[in-house]
Amino acid sequence: MLDRLRKALGSIGERIAEAAGTGITVSEKKAEEIADELVLELVQADVALDAAEKIAERIKSALAGRKFSSRREIRDAVRSVLVDLLSREAPKIAPPPEKPYIIMFVGPNGVGKTTTIAKIAHQLRKGGYSVVIAAADTFRAGSIEQTEEWAERVGARVVKHSYGADPAAVAFDAVKSAKARGDDYVLIDTAGRQETNENLMEQLKKIKRVVKPHLTVFVGEGMAGSAVAEQIRRFNEELGIDGIILTKMDTDTKGGAVLTAAVAAEVPIIYLGWGEAPEDLKPFDPEEFVSKILPEV
Ligand code: GDP
Repeated sequence: MLDRLRKALGSIGERIAEAAGTGITVSEKKAEEIADELVLELVQADVALDAAEKIAERIKSALAGRKFSSRREIRDAVRSVLVDLLSREAPKIAPPPEKPYIIMFVGPNGVGKTTTIAKIAHQLRKGGYSVVIAAADTFRAGSIEQTEEWAERVGARVVKHSYGADPAAVAFDAVKSAKARGDDYVLIDTAGRQETNENLMEQLKKIKRVVKPHLTVFVGEGMAGSAVAEQIRRFNEELGIDGIILTKMDTDTKGGAVLTAAVAAEVPIIYLGWGEAPEDLKPFDPEEFVSKILPEV
């Protein structure tokens, strides 16, 4: 897991090892060479090309013209570039700034939206908050039952209609019901696929218009690699998204999606999903993530 990214970033130090400790300044040319190779390595670790170029450019600027007295210093310079690129203030989910606090989840089919909503509901329930889940994926067979099973497991309430119903109506009813009962949160699950993507986006826009969620969160796969940049761009353009959650970080991911999403999207990553259990959702911590991908020296 994340090995490829570690290899890509670890090689920076090796390439300028001769400069470290000898008081040699890293020349512009050397920094450029390192940046060029880094782009290739990052792309192989599934970072999208434009994100890889941006990262390499920033690392180049941090290295060129500087004298390093140890490998450790080189590592620290790279580290601070990466932490800086990944750090964006993420929206706070709890406590709810308003009641009910409405969060709408969007993203491709099968990436783990329903599971992620259950994980968030679980955390909120543990914090003592009441949660209503709107089963507004009325498209995929089995999705409503899946939501109900999860809700029962984590102690949330479900508002549902039947399959084929207007998702905006489901979301509207969930909000109405939460207001009537004084619930803290409404989490809106949505469909990831429709007959055409155009339909899907129109449907999601309608939900957004009708319930005016406080937050719209994109859920994507951490193992989707560079493809995730395009997905985020599309959802952001069409709907506007406030945050990102990447799932399946426990699977055989190269880690590129996290860097890609963070660099390309200019939207904060809020959580990463690390498994299928309710507890397997961790707030995204740039420092911790960079420690995972940057080898010790
Ligand atoms: P949705 O269609 O986006 O709502 O996706 P689901 O929530 O139904 O999830 C699709 C599959 O991905 C299910 O088998 C989940 O158990 C699995 N899944 C979701 N999140 C994670 C995760 O963080 N790690 C792993 N390994 N599997 C996950």
